[in-house]
Amino acid sequence: MKISINKKLDYKPENGDPSVFWSLAHEFVNVDINIDELAKHIKLGHPFCAQHHPIRNSQNFTCAGYLAVDIDNGMTLADALENDWVKKYAALVYVTWSHTKEHNRFRIVFELARIITDAQEMRAAFIGLIRKFGGDGACKDVCRIFYGSKDGQQFMLGNMLPDEILDELIEIGKTKKISAESGDESGNWMSAVRSNRHLDADHAVKTAEGSIEQVTTLSRTARVHCPFHLDKHPSAFITVSSNNIKGVHCTTCDETFWPKSISRRNLQNFDFYQIDDELNKIEYYEDPYNIYGEDSPAEFFSNDDRVVRSGNEKRLANLELMPGVILVRSPKGSGKSYQLAKIVNQCKQLNKSVLLIGHRQSLIAALAENLGLACYLDKTDADGERISVSKYYAICLDSIPLRLKLNLHKFDVVIIDESEQVFSHLTSDTLAKQRRDCFLKMERYLRNASTVIACDADLSHLTLAVISNARGGEMPVRFYVNRHKQSQRNIEIYDSQDQLLSELISAVNSGGKYYVTCNSKKKADQIAKALEESATREIKIQLITKENSQDKEIRGFVKNIKTEILEFDVVISSPSLGTGIDITFPDDEILINGVFGFFLPRINTHFDIDQQLCRVRHPGFVKVWISHERFSFEIEPEAIKRNIVESGSFTDFLIGYDDNNNKTYDIDDSLLSLHAVVFSLGRASKNNIRTHFIDLKKYNGWNVIEVATNKKEAASGRAASNAAKKELARMRAQMICDAEKITETQARNLQEATNRTAFVNAKIDRFWIERFYGEEISLELVELDDEQRYQEKVKMMAVYLSDDDQSIDYDKPQQSKFAADRNFSYFKKLLLRKLFIAAKLADSEGNFIENKRICNDDLDEFVKICDEKRGEIETLLKLDVRGDLHPKPMNQLGNFLKLIGCSWVKPINSESKKGRIRYYSINQYSLNLAQKYAKNRLKNRRRQ
Ligand SMILES: [Zn+2]
Repeated sequence: MKISINKKLDYKPENGDPSVFWSLAHEFVNVDINIDELAKHIKLGHPFCAQHHPIRNSQNFTCAGYLAVDIDNGMTLADALENDWVKKYAALVYVTWSHTKEHNRFRIVFELARIITDAQEMRAAFIGLIRKFGGDGACKDVCRIFYGSKDGQQFMLGNMLPDEILDELIEIGKTKKISAESGDESGNWMSAVRSNRHLDADHAVKTAEGSIEQVTTLSRTARVHCPFHLDKHPSAFITVSSNNIKGVHCTTCDETFWPKSISRRNLQNFDFYQIDDELNKIEYYEDPYNIYGEDSPAEFFSNDDRVVRSGNEKRLANLELMPGVILVRSPKGSGKSYQLAKIVNQCKQLNKSVLLIGHRQSLIAALAENLGLACYLDKTDADGERISVSKYYAICLDSIPLRLKLNLHKFDVVIIDESEQVFSHLTSDTLAKQRRDCFLKMERYLRNASTVIACDADLSHLTLAVISNARGGEMPVRFYVNRHKQSQRNIEIYDSQDQLLSELISAVNSGGKYYVTCNSKKKADQIAKALEESATREIKIQLITKENSQDKEIRGFVKNIKTEILEFDVVISSPSLGTGIDITFPDDEILINGVFGFFLPRINTHFDIDQQLCRVRHPGFVKVWISHERFSFEIEPEAIKRNIVESGSFTDFLIGYDDNNNKTYDIDDSLLSLHAVVFSLGRASKNNIRTHFIDLKKYNGWNVIEVATNKKEAASGRAASNAAKKELARMRAQMICDAEKITETQARNLQEATNRTAFVNAKIDRFWIERFYGEEISLELVELDDEQRYQEKVKMMAVYLSDDDQSIDYDKPQQSKFAADRNFSYFKKLLLRKLFIAAKLADSEGNFIENKRICNDDLDEFVKICDEKRGEIETLLKLDVRGDLHPKPMNQLGNFLKLIGCSWVKPINSESKKGRIRYYSINQYSLNLAQKYAKNRLKNRRRQ
């Protein structure tokens, strides 16, 4: 077994033991021994780790023939020794020095059949093993130390871990654990991932009650022990797929396990056009004319009861007002609002009331006007009368709870425009506490109406499911499908986002008008800045993000977007610009030269992206970059329901606890079901967003051109993007200086909020910067702070200046950590002092000598110490000793000075008998500054 042993240590080092670093970094010896020999070393108290060369750290990992895991809680020693998996695969179990009868602490060591030689694989194997035991599975260091346990109890099992089990652990360790809904923001809940491990046809699991049962015989939602990790408490549930296959969803692994028929691979090619196939089948059944033409049976020729009415004309067919559910799936610009207006007119003649439900304020007013409805946003109607809820009324989903009273306001006909988005909106954060009320009222309006009409260009089974559910399972009486595809339109899909940015910059500089859309505010900011910074002519940019979309000026712009957009060279928007916005010009004139799109993963779906891109109906060209990233998020709605409930992010479901403190909820709750369908479609899209988007464009008749990376163009785009980031940092500094002063309580309260504006962040930043440096904010201070990087240097300077009591004090909270993971302020201080004294920059006490000048000849002692203390320098200061230490020691010394926030002044040349000598001295200003802040910090600490 390839492993590394340290025979110089036979104990677990405590804090305050200066010999430790050297030994832990340098005194491990790579050996090839068997498990009995390893057991002997452990019994002698010798620590072990992976093989490395020369110094122990993750970068120097070479190989390992073992794996080991710490068990500190959860499983008892007895549990482990009785566990089948452990009995089958483990080589050795031993208790650690802190093991007690009450609190079992032990390690399990595995001997690998094959040797791991790749550090990434080693990391994944460690994480996989930790996850196998139900742990969180962080592994920073692949050369992490497992300490021996002098005379500790041992259990020799002598097994070898076979390759296929190791591969499985590596695979478990590689699984990304992230949220499918949070985009680039972290700290959210994990979305369940479909496992690549499968259940056997007769797979048996242990139930919460302790019996062993086949998965197929257990009831939906039954609580069981995870079949894959070593699950002490039953933390998994039986779940069921939409085609009724039973699976297991483990909330510790955050994975779902299914029989082979439900594979992970299928997630990548989800069929978004399933509803199309079904409609085709119904249509051919109802109207064989479509297949048989003139030869079809006579009785089918004029079948007026057909549900599916398809066509592929540019204009949508005439809609017929009739009782029941009418669904309309038709591309944008096919005359949908003209048809709806006719329906509203009919209703007025028949004295039937109409309610239009939309989801975006920016869209509803215009549509209401087109249809002849009063909009809830208007203050007065055409006659100057104040608007109350009228018989012909248009409203946004969010406002239903506030404005509509079920008993007072009744509607015969309910029209839902962009139904997919309206229903998806019910899961969005903005609804918050109103969510359930909003949903229930909408459901009642759907149920009570005699006619419900829902329209969407991408109408899917989401719309069908929600409406059918609200109306007790009723299916549509009419389904209008317009399959018209506009042909000969091109879309270019870029491989590199930097290259696309570079193209955008050259396009804007060469003239014309452009529309840029993306799904991240940060990205939108950077694009705007990059354009500004790279402009070779005067350009007018309009940037619309969630930070300013409510401003009066922007609202005015959005309201008159068709004319306003022509006032600018570039309009850049993040998703906050309503999806309903439509920028079409009379006679389909091409007034926008090009549309550019930049889309990051895990934020929205490919349908949303398409909507964003299609706002400009007739651009000169469309160029897009979409992330290549793929995921394996589970899409089965039942599993998603559990995921939603366990996440704790949604408090508006009726969640309770049973006698065993397990969460209970109503799995058939219709709002929860709606969430599950929306999340399912969203995750299916996000699993392979780039491919789905390309397929959608092809489906809609576009000619997709994939553009490979041009390295030169990409490099130029990257440079522009980096410059933009820098400028944004400068502006952030200004904003912090201009921010209002707040108290600590206010700062902490503001930090609680997830959606903070730049102004709020500026206030928070101002508070913490002023707190750290103990002085009034200024541009210089923000720049000095360098997004907190200077704080680290000041802290290091404080360590350097601290007296022994203080630096040991710093280390106190760290005593429970592994020796190798601690901060060791005290030893950092000793080492730095030794170095600066040797370099003659400091006196024998370590105090810096004012305006001291040194040259290379002064550094012999310094170089000698660097050579000797190489290991300590690397482990304690996390600084590499430079390869040019001997010829250029000043560079090395400069790196140490940087650690404490100091720099050199420009060297002075002086002629002497020996020739030219370069003299170096510390920039006294930088030294004084760092010392000033560090002393402040020490003083404040003492006061606490
Ligand atoms: Zn599990």
